[in-house]
Order: sequence, then structure tokens, then C-alpha cells
Amino acid sequence: MQHIKNPVAQSASAFHNTREHVVIDKVSKRFDLRTGSVEALREASVTIAEHEFVTLIGPSGCGKSTLLRIIGGLIEPTSGTIQIRGNSPSEAQRAKDMGFVFQSPALLPWRTVVGNIELPFELNRAAAAKRLCSTEEILELVGLASFAKAHPYQLSGGMQQRVAIARALIFDPSLMLMDEPFGALDEITRDGMRYELLRIWSQSKKTVLFVTHSIPEAIVLSDRVIVMSPRPGEIREVIDIKLPRPRNEEIESSAEFVRYADHLRKLLRH
Ligand code: ADP
Ligand code: MG
Repeated sequence: MQHIKNPVAQSASAFHNTREHVVIDKVSKRFDLRTGSVEALREASVTIAEHEFVTLIGPSGCGKSTLLRIIGGLIEPTSGTIQIRGNSPSEAQRAKDMGFVFQSPALLPWRTVVGNIELPFELNRAAAAKRLCSTEEILELVGLASFAKAHPYQLSGGMQQRVAIARALIFDPSLMLMDEPFGALDEITRDGMRYELLRIWSQSKKTVLFVTHSIPEAIVLSDRVIVMSPRPGEIREVIDIKLPRPRNEEIESSAEFVRYADHLRKLLRH
């Protein structure tokens, strides 16, 4: 799977010589309610490069999920534009060039691991005809090769979330949008999952936009961390994480790591 790329995405990228993958330009979102309106996001602008791992961090309600849903083509911005390899979010979505992972793995309990991973194919037979990688390859990548026939109740929370990651990878999208995917896991599982995700990311060469509340998670995973202010969400600062890769648990006790964590904590406090 690592060597094959979504052909639609590839032809689109051929027109773009830059390494820009996602261009977010002055994106604002206001939700109209019966009782008034909520300004969820104000003029967010940032560009994400191919293969980059970027994390969005900020207090609850600051518009992180809103921004992710706009990029994913699930909702429209009130103003501003998003380009994904030169395409609109809905075009990228139609090309199956984006994978989503949410906090809840949302697996069907009566289906096996394979049955859950292959569900998107059954829902979209036209896309299934263009399949680029086998379920076995994906299972191998997420470390679940020996659990192909297991049912969700037989899996731990971390393994269930790996099934959700596998399902998001089934069309071999170039972009992964992950909204607090480890938010419901216990802390020990969560700590392990971040290194597991780094391994998957480095092998699959995806561009990842990841939402979290966790400062250590953001630092360990990211090339850059986007810090958002409380509602209406604005981008307060974008921080380059210049820690060497590959990263392992030891990095969390390094002096640089602690410096990044202090800096982020201060930014998030104000
Ligand atoms: P975060 O993911 O950072 O916690 P969200 O993006 O979910 O924040 O929400 C940002 C703000 O927009 C919140 O105040 C939330 O209540 C509001 N909001 C989000 N989705 C909707 C919606 N569909 N209708 C109305 N308000 C919404
Ligand atoms: Mg959210």
C-alpha cells in the first residue's frame, strides 16, 4: 500500500508543483440558531504541506471540529476557501482522497474486523472497483493481522480505534483527518497509541490533520502545532516542533520536549 497512491489525487497533484496539500484561507464559520448565532471560527488561515503531521489544539468549543468538518467537506464555511491539492473539499471527498477518524470508532458490533474495514466498499461499489490495496495489507499496517475475524467486543479500546483507522485507510487517501481519535481511551493505552500512529504515519506517508486536547500528544506527533484561542476560534500561533524523528517514549523526558510543553501550556492558559 505504501507505494500506491490514489490516482485521482495524483493527477490533481500533477498540476501543483508545490508541496502544498491543504490551503486554508481566511475560513470563518457562523452557525445560525433560532436564538441568534454562534461564531465558531474566525478567519483561519494556514497551509499544510504534503506528508506533514499537523495538530490542532485549543480549549473545548474553539472550533477545532468545525474546521476539520469544513476541510472534510461535511459543512460549508460562511466565508473563506479550502483547497486540497487544488480541489474543493467536496471534490476531494468524491475522489475518496480523505479518510476520517473520530473519537468513537463507531464499529458495527455484528461484523468482524474485516467486515467493518470493508464496509465503505459495500456502500460504494463504484469506488470499490478502484481499490488499490488489500484488506490484508491494511490489517498488517495497523497491527491487527491476527484479529481479522474477531468481533469488536473481543477487542480493547485501542484495537477498536485501530480498526477505525484501518477503515479510514481503505481507499488509500492522501489526507487523514483525525478528531480526538484517542480521546475516549484510558491514559496508558492512549500513550501507546500515539507511537503506533507515528509508525503508521511514517509507513503510509499520509498528510495528517489531528485534533487533540493533550499537550504531550500534540508535541510527540507533530511537525507543527496550531494553537487556537477560545471561541470565536482564531489561530493564535503555529509552532514548529523541531524534535528529531523517529520519536519514542524517551523524547517525553527531554529538555526540549519540556520547553515545548511549557510554551503550549502558557499559550493555552491565556
Ligand atoms: P471544538 O471541537 O473545538 O470543541 P466545535 O467546532 O465542536 O469545537 O464547536 C465550536 C463552536 O460552534 C461551539 O460553540 C459549538 O457549540 C458551536 N457549534 C458547532 N457545531 C454546531 C452546529 N451544528 N450548530 C450550532 N452550533 C454549533
Ligand atoms: Mg471537537
